[in-house]
Amino acid sequence: QEKDYGMMLRTRSPGGFVPSQLYLTLDRLSEEYGNHTLRITTRQGMQLHGILKKNLQETISALIKNMGSTLGACGDLNRNVMAPPAPYKDKPEYQYAWEYAEKIADLLTPQTGAYYEIWLDGEKAISGSEAPEVKAARQRNDNGTIFQDSVEPIYGTHYMPRKFKISVTVPGDNSIDVYTHDISLVVITDESGELEGFNVLAGGGLGRTHNKEETFARMSDEIGFVAKDDIYDLVKAIVATQRDYGDRVSRRHARMKYLINDWGVKKFKAQVEEYFGKKIAKYRKLPQWQYKDFLGWHEQGDGKLFFGISVENGRIKDEGKFQLKTALKEIVSQFEIPMRLTANHNVILYEIDPANKEAIENILVERGIETNPDAIDTLTRYSMACPAMPTCGLAITESERALPKISDRIRQLLITLGMPDEYFVIRMTGCPNGCARPYMAELGFVGSAPGKYQIWLGGTPDQTELAQPYEQKMPIDELESFFEPIFVYFKRDRKAKESFGVFCNRVGFDAIRKFSADYKLG
Ligand code: SF4
Repeated sequence: QEKDYGMMLRTRSPGGFVPSQLYLTLDRLSEEYGNHTLRITTRQGMQLHGILKKNLQETISALIKNMGSTLGACGDLNRNVMAPPAPYKDKPEYQYAWEYAEKIADLLTPQTGAYYEIWLDGEKAISGSEAPEVKAARQRNDNGTIFQDSVEPIYGTHYMPRKFKISVTVPGDNSIDVYTHDISLVVITDESGELEGFNVLAGGGLGRTHNKEETFARMSDEIGFVAKDDIYDLVKAIVATQRDYGDRVSRRHARMKYLINDWGVKKFKAQVEEYFGKKIAKYRKLPQWQYKDFLGWHEQGDGKLFFGISVENGRIKDEGKFQLKTALKEIVSQFEIPMRLTANHNVILYEIDPANKEAIENILVERGIETNPDAIDTLTRYSMACPAMPTCGLAITESERALPKISDRIRQLLITLGMPDEYFVIRMTGCPNGCARPYMAELGFVGSAPGKYQIWLGGTPDQTELAQPYEQKMPIDELESFFEPIFVYFKRDRKAKESFGVFCNRVGFDAIRKFSADYKLG
C-alpha cells in the first residue's frame, strides 16, 4: 500500500495579489484537503499544507479554475515576483510596480502546456498554450535575441541552474527586502509621474549551508538604469547570463549571487550587455530605503480604503477565541474584496467602501483579531519566522511554533533591564536556507542543531545591511543569560535613537564579546 505522502502547495501570486474568488477557494481547499490553516509566505504567496498525494490533482485544478496557479512557485526557474503590497491608486509608481511585477512574471513563465495537461487531466478548457500566463509570455517574447531553439525559448532544455528571484519596487519603499533578490527593479518616473525606466540591482540571495564557507548570504549590487522599453530585454539578458554561466555542477554554488561574486560586477555587467545588445546607463540616485508594513486603515487614493492586518508568523488559522481564518472568510465573501499578501507575511484587504469600514472592523473584533496595529507588541509586529517543523523537511529546529514564546521572553528581559518599549527586527528560520530572511534582521535566529540557534546580529530596521554570525550554537534555554549582557551594553552605550542592529554594527562583535565576558565575571 502506498504511503500517505503529505504535500505543500504554494501559489504564484505576483505582488501578493489574491482575488476574492481565489482566497475563498484556498480557504475551502485547506478545510477539505489541507491541515485547516493557510500560510502566507515571505514571498507574498500562499501555502497549503498537508495535501495528500491522492488529492493533489483535485486541489491544483480547483486553484487553476479559480484564478490561481502554482506554476513556477517552486523549482529552478523564476519564482513569485514581489512588489510593494500597498494598493495606492493615486501614486503612479505603485501602479507601475504592480504592472511590471505581473508582466515580468508572465515573461518568465514556462511556456510548456504540460502543467495544465497534467493538473487539468487532459481537459482542454485551458489548454497549455491558451492559459493566460503562457499567452502573455509568448506575446512578450516575440522579438527574440536571446532565445534557444526549444519549447522554452528563455529557459532552454535545462531550465535555470537554481531558483531565481525577482522583485519590483518604488523608490524609498523597502517592504520587499530589495537587496535579497537575484534581480530587483526600482520604478523611476519623471516629474509628471510617467514611467521612465528602472534602476536595476542584481546578485542578492540569502540561502547558505552551515559550516560551508563557500556558501554565504549576499546583498545585491547596483547594476544601472534601463529605459522602460528595454526592460524585458534586460531581464532576459540577466536570466540568460545566469542560465549559460551559472554553476550547473554544484547546487550549493548555483545561485546567481555566486556568479556575480566570482566574476565581479564589471565582468557580469559586460556579459549582460553583450546579450542585451547595448550599454546599461548609470544607476539613478534614490532616496533612503524605509521598511513599511502598511498595517491599520489607510486611504487608497481613489475614495476607497485599505486595511493591513498583522498575521503572526503568517499563519491564518482558528484557535480558541482567535479566529482569523473565519474572519477573513466572512469578510472576503461578504464584501467580495481582494487582498494583497505582504513580504512580512501579513494581509492587506483593499477596495473597501468606507461605508463598510465599521462592519469589517466589527467582524475582526468579534473574531478576536487585534485591529489596532499600535496595540501589537512591536517585537511581534516586525518579526518573521519560516514554517520549519513539522511541515518542512529541511528544518533542524522549530521556528514558527517557537518564535511567539521567544519574543515574549525577549520582551520580559527588556522589561527587566529597563527597556520596556524597545524593539528591533527579529527573524527566525529552522535551517540556514533562510526563508524568513534572517540575515537581514537586527537579531536573526538560524537553527543550527536541535534546540540550538546560530545568532546573527547587525542588520538594520530598514533592511539595508547584512547581519553577521555572532554565535554558532546558542542553546535556546540560555536565551536570557546570553542576551542580558548584550542588551545592557546596548542600553549603556547606544547613541540617541540608535537601533539595536546599528549599534551592534558600530561597536563591533569584539567589543560585544568583551563586554559580555566582563559582565558575566561581575
Ligand atoms: Fe525554509 Fe529552512 Fe525554514 Fe524549511 S526550515 S522553511 S527550508 S528556512
